[in-house]
Amino acid sequence: MNTPVLSTAHLERTDGWGQVAKALNYVYRPTSVAGIQRVLKLAHESGRSVGLRGGGISYGDASLNAENILLDLSRMTRILDWNPETGVIDVEAGVTMRDLWRYIVGDGWWPSVVPGTMFGTIGGSLAMNVHGKNHWQSGTLGDYTLEFDAVLPTGELITCDPEETPDLFYSIISGFGMFAIITRAKLQMKRIFSGRLKTTSRSADNLHELLTLMDTHKDASDYMVGWVDCFAKGDKLGRGQVDTSNALSEGADPQALQTLRLAFQDVSDTIAGIIPKSILWRAAQLVTNNFGIYWANVAKFWAGKLQHGNQNLNSYAAANFMLDYVPHWKKAYLPGGLLQHQCFLPYETSETAIRSMLALCQQRGYPSYLGVIKRHPADDNFLMAYSLDGFSLAMDFRVTKRNKNALLQLMHDLDQLVVEAGGRFYLAKDAHLRPDAYAASLGDTRMKKMLALKQQYDPQNVLQTNLSRRLLLDHLTTV
Ligand SMILES: Cc1cc2nc3c(=O)[nH]c(=O)nc-3n(C[C@H](O)[C@H](O)[C@H](O)COP(=O)(O)OP(=O)(O)OC[C@H]3O[C@@H](n4cnc5c(N)ncnc54)[C@H](O)[C@@H]3O)c2cc1C
Repeated sequence: MNTPVLSTAHLERTDGWGQVAKALNYVYRPTSVAGIQRVLKLAHESGRSVGLRGGGISYGDASLNAENILLDLSRMTRILDWNPETGVIDVEAGVTMRDLWRYIVGDGWWPSVVPGTMFGTIGGSLAMNVHGKNHWQSGTLGDYTLEFDAVLPTGELITCDPEETPDLFYSIISGFGMFAIITRAKLQMKRIFSGRLKTTSRSADNLHELLTLMDTHKDASDYMVGWVDCFAKGDKLGRGQVDTSNALSEGADPQALQTLRLAFQDVSDTIAGIIPKSILWRAAQLVTNNFGIYWANVAKFWAGKLQHGNQNLNSYAAANFMLDYVPHWKKAYLPGGLLQHQCFLPYETSETAIRSMLALCQQRGYPSYLGVIKRHPADDNFLMAYSLDGFSLAMDFRVTKRNKNALLQLMHDLDQLVVEAGGRFYLAKDAHLRPDAYAASLGDTRMKKMLALKQQYDPQNVLQTNLSRRLLLDHLTTV
């Protein structure tokens, strides 16, 4: 029998969100479980692997599968059931965080966990087990998943929940699309009594103050995020701002009926009703360089200092998805794109390691253009865990033709500092990690369990991506 050749009509170039990783893949967009099963059959017959893609919002190569099949689930967008009494929602995997919150907010509910952008899908968000600015006290999206359906590489449709099928439940969630294709999930939302959050901003003169502020306020806050001026040096190293937010209790918002409406949540798409925000990235591109960002950071720091202790009321959407309201902001990093380095550090080593990383970037002439610090809880039960009881640091770097190699070297040197500090990495943000650094950070027990489960559920290694080949290929061929 002849091996079928995939139609070039399906050949498409796709990018990772950071616009650095790119691939030509055969893209299929099924709308049903039967459609997914047909693609798996085609993969089998044509000897190709299958990579999965939801919103394609991961920064690097997690949702690319060069020269092979890319199964794009973004057309599976039905909301199957919603119970506004219990806050339980049943959705197909291609429903986005945006679809989700817009559907439920008017009934007084909000997703229990949302990442910093609303454009990821539920399937992709479970595959990475995303967290939000409430991670240290609320856990990950997986913690609010009651059950899900998934198609195994054999084509079999299964239902998973934490009690009946713990191995599959805790590995498909977090397993970055390596074990099965999530097609549906039942999730628990959280009650809210106002469409607004009360946010307090506090400025910090150095890293020690910033981390101390986060420690001091974490128990009394629902959400928390730190911004770091990655250009500040010497005794100002790590200076920045901490924003803590709290939900309003029942009855505390006299305008709750209005603030829970979509019209209130939606942020204006113009500045002062005149300038369309859709053109802002063009202006931002002019200042996305060391000189421009240095001064933008100085301005942000001093504005924060003047507002120290101020309280504001912001809509849930504005507070959680601030960057989404500057459309196409990532284009400011074109033509080379953007690399993010995000690491999770144990509490005891966080301050020293963050200090070393900020200083190293400055020494090399590449201070990060955006620095974000969050607080996280201890290791969780999900297989490919990235969290540690401590802090994470995320840094964005502009890639150019000239700096690409030097930046990559910097990323690897930062990875080394993270591994030495006992830290971990988050694959949703990664485009550069080497297999040894990843394996060292994940630890032997989890890596062995991952490989054993892969062998059990996907012995032919049907599910692959550029990222899995980059990080796991050596391990998988020895399974
Ligand atoms: C501006 C920005 C801010 C962000 N902030 C945060 C944050 O605060 N916290 C956080 O945790 N993350 C954050 N992220 C990362 C983002 O939430 C994750 O990358 C998430 O996985 C994106 O969902 P997606 O649908 O786009 O998945 P994709 O990027 O398309 O895919 C992610 C992974 O899931 C797999 N996959 C996709 N669909 C399925 C499926 N149906 N079944 C099984 N596997 C599947 C893919 O193969 C891939 O490995 C941020 C990203 C951006 C761009």
